[in-house]
Amino acid sequence: MGDNIFLKIIRKEIPADIVYEDEEILAFYDIHPIAPVHILVVPKKPIESIATMDDEDAAVVGRMFLVARDIARDLNISEKGYKLLIRVGKDGGQEVPHLHLHLLGGARLMEGIRPISN
Ligand code: AMP
Repeated sequence: MGDNIFLKIIRKEIPADIVYEDEEILAFYDIHPIAPVHILVVPKKPIESIATMDDEDAAVVGRMFLVARDIARDLNISEKGYKLLIRVGKDGGQEVPHLHLHLLGGARLMEGIRPISN
C-alpha cells in the first residue's frame, strides 16, 4: 500500500485539527468542510477502503462508528442528528485511499446521490 495524506496525518508529519485519538483511531476536522461540523474518523491501520478491508478489520471499523457517536455527543449535535458517510472507490467518490468516516452535522443536510453525467 502506498503512502497518502491521512497516513502522514496519523504519523504527525503534517498538521491536522485533531479531536480524538487512541491507539487505533484518529479523528480530525476536514480541511474543506461541507457542513458546520465535518470531521473525519480514520483507522490508524492502513486500510484502503471498505472494499478491500479484511474480515479482521470489522472491530476497528465498528469502533470508528462509536468514536463518531461520542464526538457527536460531545459537540452537542447528537439530538438533532447528523450524517455518517463512507465513500468507496472511484464511483463512490473516494479521493483519499485510506478508509475514512465522514461525520457531518450542525445543519440540515441535503441529499446527494444522483449519478454524475459524463
Ligand atoms: P473522500 O472524498 O471521501 O475521499 O474525502 C476526502 C476528504 O479528505 C475530503 O473531504 C477532503 O476535504 C479531506 N482532506 C484532504 N486533505 C485533508 C487534510 N490535509 N486534512 C483534513 N482533511 C483533508
